[in-house]
Amino acid sequence: MEEYQKLWDKIKYQLQLTLDEDVYNEHFSAISNVFKVVNNYIYLISPNSFIKSKIEAFYLNRLNAMLNEYISDKHMFKIITKEQAAEELAKASIYEINKPEEGLEDKYKTGLNNLYTFDNFVVGSSNRLAYTSAMKVADQPGVVANPLYIFGDVGLGKTHLMQCVGNYILENDVNRRVLYVKTDQFIEDYAKAAQKKTFDEFSKKYENVDILLVDDIQFLSGKTQSQLEFFKIFEKLKEENRQIVITSDRPASELFDIMSRLTSRFEWGLSVDINRPNLEHRILILKKKLQAETADPDLIPENILDYIASIFDNNVRELEGALKRVLFYCTAFDYKFTVENAEEALKNLVNSKNISNKTIERSNFNNVLDIVSSYYNISTIDLLSKKRKKQYVYPRQISMYILKELYDLTYKKIGQIFNNRDHSTVIYSIEQISHDILTDKDKKADIDKLLIKCGKKA
Ligand code: ADP
Ligand code: MG
Repeated sequence: MEEYQKLWDKIKYQLQLTLDEDVYNEHFSAISNVFKVVNNYIYLISPNSFIKSKIEAFYLNRLNAMLNEYISDKHMFKIITKEQAAEELAKASIYEINKPEEGLEDKYKTGLNNLYTFDNFVVGSSNRLAYTSAMKVADQPGVVANPLYIFGDVGLGKTHLMQCVGNYILENDVNRRVLYVKTDQFIEDYAKAAQKKTFDEFSKKYENVDILLVDDIQFLSGKTQSQLEFFKIFEKLKEENRQIVITSDRPASELFDIMSRLTSRFEWGLSVDINRPNLEHRILILKKKLQAETADPDLIPENILDYIASIFDNNVRELEGALKRVLFYCTAFDYKFTVENAEEALKNLVNSKNISNKTIERSNFNNVLDIVSSYYNISTIDLLSKKRKKQYVYPRQISMYILKELYDLTYKKIGQIFNNRDHSTVIYSIEQISHDILTDKDKKADIDKLLIKCGKKA
C-alpha cells in the first residue's frame, strides 16, 4: 500500500509541474490518499462526482500512462467519490479492506484472509462457546469435534471464526492443506465440473485437503446434486478424520430442503451458536476494530464508541460499518470526534435502520394480524395471547405462517411478536399449517385467500 501511495505522490508532483496551475488545483490538489488497491486498480478519492467525471474524461489515460512508466504491469487508476468510499467502507469488514493483495507465490489457493485471527476476535458470553470450540478444533483438527457446526444470524462473526481455524492451523504447519469455500462457490464448482465433465479436478480440489471450511451451508437448500456430491466428500473426509467446519444461519435441524442424511451428519460433531453481543461486548469490539484501523487507539473518545454501540445492536458488521463511517467522515473533512459529528456521519444509516425495522413492524405486521383476526372474528389481543382454545390457536398458527411466508422473518422474531413465544413453538405452528396445506383442500383455499389479502402477489 505504501508503495502505491509513494507512486501517487510522485505522479501528483509531476502533474503539478506540467499542468496549468488552475487545472491542477481544481482537479488534483484535493486528491491525496490512495484508498485501496484491488485487482490492479489503484483507487483514488475525488471530492465530488463532478471532478471525478472530469478526470475520467480528460486525464485518466494520461494518469495511467504515467503510472505505467513506473510499474510495468497492468495497474490502472480508478477514481471514486468520497461518498462511494464511505459507502464501501461501511459495508465491508475492516479486514477485507486491509487484506493484502494476494501474492503470486501463494502455494495453495486456500481462500483464507489471514487477517481473521483468534487474536482479533473479541470474546463475550454470546460467542464464548463457539470461540473455545473453534480453538480446540484448531488445536487438534479431526479429533475433538467433527464436524464443527457454527450457526447464528448474519454478521455475528461466523465467517471470522471459521477463518481463524484455518489460519491458526496453517500458522502452526504450513504443509496442512486448508480449503475455505463459500457454499455458493462449491455449487458453482460442481456445476462447472458437471458441464465440462471435469469431476477429477473437482474431487481433487475438495478431497485432497486436511481441513475443509464450508461457509453458509444453508445455500445448499434445494440443490440436490450438489448435496449428493457434498455428502460423498463429507463421508470421505470424516472417515479419514480430516476436519470439517461448517457455518450456517440456523441449526442443522432447521435447514430447509437439504437431505436429512446430510443434516443428521451435521449434528454428529459439535453444534455451537453465536448470538448478539451485549453492549459491553460491542464496545470492546469497537475498540478492537479501532486498533486495527488506526495507530492511535484513543483517536475516538469513549463516549462516541458508547454512542455507536448503543445504536447498532444487532449485527457486528453494521457496528463495524458505523465505526468506519465516523472515522472516515471526521478524518476526510477534518472534523473533531464529537457525538454531534458522529450523529451527522451516521444520519443515513440510523434513519434507514429505523425505517426498515419500524415500517415492517408497525404497518405490515399489524396488517397481517388485523386481517387474520377479523377473518376469524377474534380480537388481535386473543390472537397474540397464549390462550390455548382452538378458536385462537389455529388463526395464530396461520398468522405465523403468513409472517414467515411474506416477510421471511426469523422464527425467533415471530416468537417475539407473539408474546415472546419460544422459536420451537413457532416452527411447530408453521409446520402444522404447511401440513394442512398439503392435506386439506378447504384449509388451503382459506390460507391462500388470506395470503393474498395480506399482500401476497396472486
Ligand atoms: P457472519 O459470517 O456471521 O455473517 P462475519 O464473520 O462476516 O459474520 O462478521 C462480520 C464482521 O464482524 C467481520 O468484519 C468480523 O470481523 C466482525 N466480527 C464479528 N464478531 C466479531 C468478534 N467477536 N470480534 C471481532 N470482530 C467480529
Ligand atoms: Mg459469513
